[in-house]
Amino acid sequence: MARYIFVTGGVVSSLGKGLSSASLAYLLQSRGYKVRIRKLDPYLNVDPGTMSPFQHGEVFVTDDGAETDLDLGHYERFSGISAKKTDNITTGKIYNDVLKRERQGKYLGKTVQVIPHITNRIKEFIKNDVSKEDFVICEIGGTVGDIESLPFLEAIRQFSNEYGRTNTLFIHLTLVPYMKASDEIKTKPTQHSVKELRSIGIQPDIIICRSERTIPLNQRKKISLFCNVSIEDVIETVDVKTIYEAPISFNKEKLDERVLNYFKIKSKKKVNLKPWKRITNLVLNTNNKVNIGVIGKYVELKDAYKSLDEALTHGGIANNLKVNLIRIESDNLKPNQIKEKLKNVAGILIPGGFGKRGTEGKIAAISYARKNKIPFLGICFGMQMAVIEFARNKLKIKNATSSEFGNSKASVVGLMSEWIKDGKIMRGTDKNLGGTMRLGSYEARLKKDTKISQIYNSSKIKERHRHRYEVNINYKNHFEGKGMIFSGLSPDNKLPEIIELKDHPWFIGVQFHPEFKSRPLAPHPLFSSFIKAAKKNSI
Ligand code: GLN
Repeated sequence: MARYIFVTGGVVSSLGKGLSSASLAYLLQSRGYKVRIRKLDPYLNVDPGTMSPFQHGEVFVTDDGAETDLDLGHYERFSGISAKKTDNITTGKIYNDVLKRERQGKYLGKTVQVIPHITNRIKEFIKNDVSKEDFVICEIGGTVGDIESLPFLEAIRQFSNEYGRTNTLFIHLTLVPYMKASDEIKTKPTQHSVKELRSIGIQPDIIICRSERTIPLNQRKKISLFCNVSIEDVIETVDVKTIYEAPISFNKEKLDERVLNYFKIKSKKKVNLKPWKRITNLVLNTNNKVNIGVIGKYVELKDAYKSLDEALTHGGIANNLKVNLIRIESDNLKPNQIKEKLKNVAGILIPGGFGKRGTEGKIAAISYARKNKIPFLGICFGMQMAVIEFARNKLKIKNATSSEFGNSKASVVGLMSEWIKDGKIMRGTDKNLGGTMRLGSYEARLKKDTKISQIYNSSKIKERHRHRYEVNINYKNHFEGKGMIFSGLSPDNKLPEIIELKDHPWFIGVQFHPEFKSRPLAPHPLFSSFIKAAKKNSI
């Protein structure tokens, strides 16, 4: 029977609940247990797929095609466990489901209410699709006290009663601020947050205290006394210099030990922190660095390209380098500024994106990378733009474009096919924007003797997609005749998945998002190779 660990947050948001959950998952896993991590999000969107990156940061995509919260990316990167559709639930999804059932008359005439109907559905989800796991860690989004989180908190309270208090553990993460004026660490916000939690019937078993500086014993004792947890279960987490230090720091503070102690079980194996120590050391101490220019629409926003930023860092780790990201806003990038803005970069990356705004700057930058033999990686939209640039400037199709920007006779990128997955046509004709993309893991076959097949060292790969448009396969011969090779195709040969340039040291575009599968302990080969090529270019 799986043991459940619920992680809630208090006082303020952005305390690092996701990172704490992910680190705990790694530690339990390293001790020999099978772990699963889930995110319960209180917002009303059915999934984050339709939310702008300005609102919610990146949309993370799972192998099975769910558009999820970016925390699932943290989970995957730290635990190495691939997340599934069933690992992210939102209030919107729950209500959608309950209302559908109500319309079908499944509640047999009863009044449908938050308790028990919504809470029951949440509990069903928590238990759903769990089989051999020893631990299921469920992070509850938001902060205790938010109106939206209430049904989730009520559901986990009920769950713990029904499933057994000894099989469920509540962890509460709070802020313990330092007041400069009085030179003191303050425990009151934590006390209030726990009081709020207890008023809904949840007594935390472990309190993780996020703090700028070490919490003195006296203050820990205070938290223990007022919040009704033993002193060993007051775990401090002092700001780390790099996120890769988090598993090391939580282990040092005995978080994993206390969790096992709560469930009265022993570790099966000794925790292995060596890989984290190695990369922490590397990230903090290496003096080698390489400048990579990332040109996108949301570069100002910290979390908009979370997985991409991480994957580039991983590429650096694989090459013993620090990757210095130079973020360039595509909206204001005038073609005549390209040379000046890109003069210090050793590699150029154009990430995924949507809409026409900012595309001319991107296309001009691609032209520059192509002509000046600067390593270039185009991801999804970035590959589509590389194809358009090549069509315009090498194939002389002057009006080459994507049908995403309006109807055109020269759509080298377009809605080409009603592509099929598992025998079903996936793209409907309805007007809904949510869930109408090619999503999740798809296979691609790599052409022999190409750069991409060397990089992957394989002829078949599986990568995650999130897009509506495709490069038009009918132009294949035309492109290849001028030196742009379609080096990866879908198994039915209908969808171009990868392009590369013959006469260029490193110019690759991929229709998928390799960044979703890169992990600090297993950097993605495309990013390792891209950074290596950029480094070579910078010497
Ligand atoms: N806007 C493009 C499409 O929908 C690319 C999407 C992306 O880069 N993720 O096909």
